[in-house]
Amino acid sequence: MKKQIVVVGLGRFGSSVCKELHSMGHEIMAIDTDPEKVNALREYAAFTVIADATDENQLKSLGVRNFEHAIVAIGDNLQASVLCTLMLKELGLPKVWVKARDLQHEKILHKVGADRVIQPEKEMGIRVAHHVDSDKIIDYIDLSHDYSIIELVASGKMANKTLIDLNIRKEFNCIVLAIKKEEDVNIAPAIDDMVEQDDVLIVMGHKNDLKRLEEKAL
Ligand code: ATP
Ligand code: ATP
Ligand code: CA
Repeated sequence: MKKQIVVVGLGRFGSSVCKELHSMGHEIMAIDTDPEKVNALREYAAFTVIADATDENQLKSLGVRNFEHAIVAIGDNLQASVLCTLMLKELGLPKVWVKARDLQHEKILHKVGADRVIQPEKEMGIRVAHHVDSDKIIDYIDLSHDYSIIELVASGKMANKTLIDLNIRKEFNCIVLAIKKEEDVNIAPAIDDMVEQDDVLIVMGHKNDLKRLEEKAL
């Protein structure tokens, strides 16, 4: 479904979010104070606007209150990022997601009403560390402090066995959400579906259980 999203701050992070959402067909309003940044995104957003997103009157006259989702990606100017977040929440936007540079910034953003705070460098660092740690894990998503979803490459040891044979649910308390064979994705696989070598299993569970599964599966 097409969403209307406002992206504030068109640095590396903001412009990347904007381009990706635009390519998915969403309607984006991209805002930055810097005309060059705004111009560079002209073909990647429905509306591009040169404006100061800490100026309440400008936000109002742009009709920002009608958007359902905002991404605030003003990284280095803490004051602007906090002020903009506060105003977007006051205007009544249901979802305001904000990029933070560190923990202190993150805490302030939560206090002024940010619905989600992202620390891209920190989060990407954690993901990369998991890829380095295990060459069987090809992707990794945190659900909470304790739970994750991983993409695990099936080893020879797991090959030609069904999910029942592998006993992942009982032995590891993890759930196989999907099995990928190249471009073919089997979602919600049945217990008698066969796993072949180099299939990718998408598995959800407690981090400790996933770690055990990964060690056992190697
Ligand atoms: P990157 O994603 O490249 O790491 P960053 O987090 O380092 O970016 P900055 O470069 O500080 O962030 O800012 C991102 C963008 O936000 C810049 O293009 C800047 O012009 C814009 N910006 C800063 N203040 C405002 C504001 N008040 N209103 C709109 N845009 C702003
Ligand atoms: P961030 O991940 O916070 O966005 P960054 O990409 O902005 O980081 P910098 O802060 O410029 O990168 O540099 C990252 C680190 O690399 C710094 O701690 C810096 O001291 C270190 N560094 C820079 N040059 C060298 C060098 N020649 N040898 C070793 N370390 C270096
Ligand atoms: Ca930066």
